[in-house]
Amino acid sequence: MHLQTNGVVMKFKGLTALDGVDIDISKGEIVGLIGPNGSGKTTLLNVISGVFVPNSGRFRMGDREWSSVSLREAACLGIRRTFQNIRLFPSFTVLETVEVAAAWLDRGDRRENALRALDELNFRQHCGRIASELSYGMQRRLEIARAIAGKLEFLLIDEPTAGLNHAESQELVEVIQAIRERRGCGIVLIDHDLHVIMNVCDRVIVLAEGKVIACGTPQEVRRDPLVINAYLGS
Ligand code: ADP
Ligand code: MG
Repeated sequence: MHLQTNGVVMKFKGLTALDGVDIDISKGEIVGLIGPNGSGKTTLLNVISGVFVPNSGRFRMGDREWSSVSLREAACLGIRRTFQNIRLFPSFTVLETVEVAAAWLDRGDRRENALRALDELNFRQHCGRIASELSYGMQRRLEIARAIAGKLEFLLIDEPTAGLNHAESQELVEVIQAIRERRGCGIVLIDHDLHVIMNVCDRVIVLAEGKVIACGTPQEVRRDPLVINAYLGS
């Protein structure tokens, strides 16, 4: 199964943040999404996951096609995400945080889905802890646990290693790879750390000024003169 965008345009007042974006992600692959600051990476995740309604363009997953969805509809389709800036309910416990997400999707047993997601991140022993009292690195992992509770076809992850040290980043990368292995989902990974992207991703998509300027294996993208000019050179 594929998740595709076709000609997606997203404008904010005078600014065109996405300028006709076509991408195609298969289930089972990890695709890196890179580009300079302000190139539209987060906005692309926002339109795919139903945070914003784009000005134009279409989306397709399997035999479904749409021009806009709500955040909840996207989640129910199995399109799940994390946020660049952590968004947790501060006073909820770890288990409550993940259970709420599982309940929101209204499918299956919410407790069972929440515990399964927490087990996947080796988090079960922290079930009773309060979200806001966790370390920053653990909050990042909790966000991922919340995003994988229940149905998961495609996981969109926005800068998961921001603010983490090298060891914590490495651990998170292993968590992401394990999710792909276990669930067979497709993953779109935005990260500033090019070592992370180049090591983990099967393919890389490069955005600049709201347009896809390159797409290929990490080796291909690294050699692409457009990419070197727009991104790696700077
Ligand atoms: P990236 O994630 O690649 O750094 P973003 O997708 O966050 O880039 O932003 C792309 C452009 O869209 C930027 O110029 C940003 O200022 C603008 N933008 C993003 N979100 C909004 C918003 N909610 N309102 C107005 N402008 C926005
Ligand atoms: Mg961003």
